[in-house]
Amino acid sequence: MRDPGHDILFEQVRIGPLTAKNRFYQVPHCNGGGYRDPSAVAAMRGVKAEGGWGVIFTEQTEMHHTSEITPFIELRLWDDADIPALRRMSEAMKSHGALAGIQLAYSGINGPNFYTKEVPLAPSAGPIRTFTNDPVQARAMDRTDIRNLRRWFVNAAKRSKAAGFDLICLYGAHGFGVFQHFLSRATNQRTDEYGGSLENRARFVNEVVADMREAVGDTMAITLRVSLDETIGDLGFSNAEVRDFIEMNRDLPDLWDLAQGTWEDCSGPSRFKEEAAQETLVTGIRELTAKPVVGVGRFTSPDLMARLVRQGVLDFIGCARPSIADPFLPKKVEEGRVEDIRECIGCNICITGDMTMSISRCTQNPTFMEEWRKGWHPERMNTKGESQSVLIVGAGPAGLEAARALSLRGYDVALAEAGTDLGGRVARERLLPGLSAWGRVADYRAYQLSQRPNVESYFDSRLDAGQILDFGFQHICVATGSHWRADGVARLHVVPIPADPAMPVFTPDDIMAGRLPGGEVVLFDDDHYYMGGVIAELLARKGCKVTFVTTSAYVSDWTLNTLEQAAIHRRLVEAGVRIVLNTGVAAIRADGVQTACSYTGAAGHIGCGAVVMVASRLPDDALFRDLMARQADWADAGIASVKVIGDANAPGPIAWATYAGHRYARALDMPDIGDALPFRREVTALA
Ligand code: ADP
Ligand code: SF4
Repeated sequence: MRDPGHDILFEQVRIGPLTAKNRFYQVPHCNGGGYRDPSAVAAMRGVKAEGGWGVIFTEQTEMHHTSEITPFIELRLWDDADIPALRRMSEAMKSHGALAGIQLAYSGINGPNFYTKEVPLAPSAGPIRTFTNDPVQARAMDRTDIRNLRRWFVNAAKRSKAAGFDLICLYGAHGFGVFQHFLSRATNQRTDEYGGSLENRARFVNEVVADMREAVGDTMAITLRVSLDETIGDLGFSNAEVRDFIEMNRDLPDLWDLAQGTWEDCSGPSRFKEEAAQETLVTGIRELTAKPVVGVGRFTSPDLMARLVRQGVLDFIGCARPSIADPFLPKKVEEGRVEDIRECIGCNICITGDMTMSISRCTQNPTFMEEWRKGWHPERMNTKGESQSVLIVGAGPAGLEAARALSLRGYDVALAEAGTDLGGRVARERLLPGLSAWGRVADYRAYQLSQRPNVESYFDSRLDAGQILDFGFQHICVATGSHWRADGVARLHVVPIPADPAMPVFTPDDIMAGRLPGGEVVLFDDDHYYMGGVIAELLARKGCKVTFVTTSAYVSDWTLNTLEQAAIHRRLVEAGVRIVLNTGVAAIRADGVQTACSYTGAAGHIGCGAVVMVASRLPDDALFRDLMARQADWADAGIASVKVIGDANAPGPIAWATYAGHRYARALDMPDIGDALPFRREVTALA
């Protein structure tokens, strides 16, 4: 039975001429698939429809060829040729009674137009504002350009209607959409009727909304997505000015979609942003307008969602990441199965799919973006094959996900763990500064396993090949993880770093096990993801004098893709960590490290009493290799297969391990596909 306190989340709400069936609103989010993988994206949105969302949006859809956000792969609505792919998406969205929304984007000063080679157009001229500092400038629109742009929006609205959408979101948030560029004095320095006063700066959005209403407003609702604060100081579109704007234009859109600030703010990782981080910025705005308000905040707690609605802060609960981690979140709340929610951990791996223009993954939901490619469903597994029993060795993310998914298929699963906790690396990493929410990877799975009659977990069970041969399970899944190397082998050093044994060297595993250095410490990061930054922060807080040395030009380089690189750098500076960029550790001496400039090789010396090596990891695959060496004994032991998965196979981020666990569970007893491609894809049709 559902908690009556959550009933409010299932009330219908009107948006313009339409009614949403409940308050669960999947705000636009990228997925790294976009126009390249239309059926994969459509199926992903369709699964959310099945999961009970009341409103489901596309990602950013480029509405005219004079503005594109290349190289990132979003959607396009440039002409009628794009309609069929978008219709496939809207139909999937509407398949279970949700309203289907399309987000129309004109990137203006934020779009470099690398593909179409058109000159970018913006309210005021200036360099393209991308984090890649593209060497391109936009031309200021004249009145004819503005008239053209209004017409292009109307054309896009008509095409959106033809493609079957119910709602249009005009994108003016995160610094990305032309509506914000007009509204903000930072990007609008015009002296005509479109610049200057707030009324003038709001003219363009008023005109576009009026044009669209006339064109499609009888059947479609128009929403406006703006940021609650541009976060660039007084010149930007500040929270106070956003409130003035909404008050002056109370009835402008059919719904106000309020994002946080920059994309980094709005999609802040759990290391830096709590759930509902935008509450203060959004509180009180609903009183300025008669139109409904949606806001985001990595919401996973239905109690919090219900409180925000009850207190009149929000009408709709906007979710991007929580809807990725659990597309069935609304259904689970509706059915009173709150403990089954697969909570987003706020790691931002999903965003890396967009940033790397590949296809997104989710740490918690390995089926994300595989709904069509592989036919994976987040709540249902394929039927069980002919065998019965599986032994999984190692209860890290890979082993836990394999156990969960195999038990759903109906196999008898034994999960053997050498330690005393479930979670493997997650059980350790969740104790590091800012990473506690990552523990949800283990918590979700531990609870699910506790509800399954066909799973037995064994702790303090470090198994060897002999024991496994004695047990007699049909399938053995080795998920024994990895450990950090102390010898410095990673990218700079492909053979062990020259080291004087007098200098103590620590690894992240030592630190996580409570073996900490003291005094002056050099941390050498040649891993470039989060671990180096997190360990530096921890040691600084414990009183060490930390010098962070990396070959990269950035601290925690790869976290540019998780939108947290700047926040990590800032935090290390605040913690008193000295940062040395573009520098490698060439050798470890008794009294410090010898360094080398990444560009010139110029040698230097940093004195210290200990070195922390954040280099690469070695798979713990000895058990797997022992079992493979005894293949001749398998038949007598009743063993049909032995596989190694996750970090024990090849170390990677946690999302790679949950994916490996899920994949193993899906594939067991399935026919061997030989050399065939293991997923579906769409190939461009030749003209
Ligand atoms: P992954 O990310 O691939 O899931 P982890 O390192 O998180 O890998 O987890 C591996 C788990 O396997 C750890 O909890 C570790 O204690 C356990 N483990 C390693 N070797 C054995 C073994 N021989 N028997 C049982 N458990 C093992
Ligand atoms: Fe959340 Fe991480 Fe999944 Fe993104 S990848 S939805 S941040 S758990």
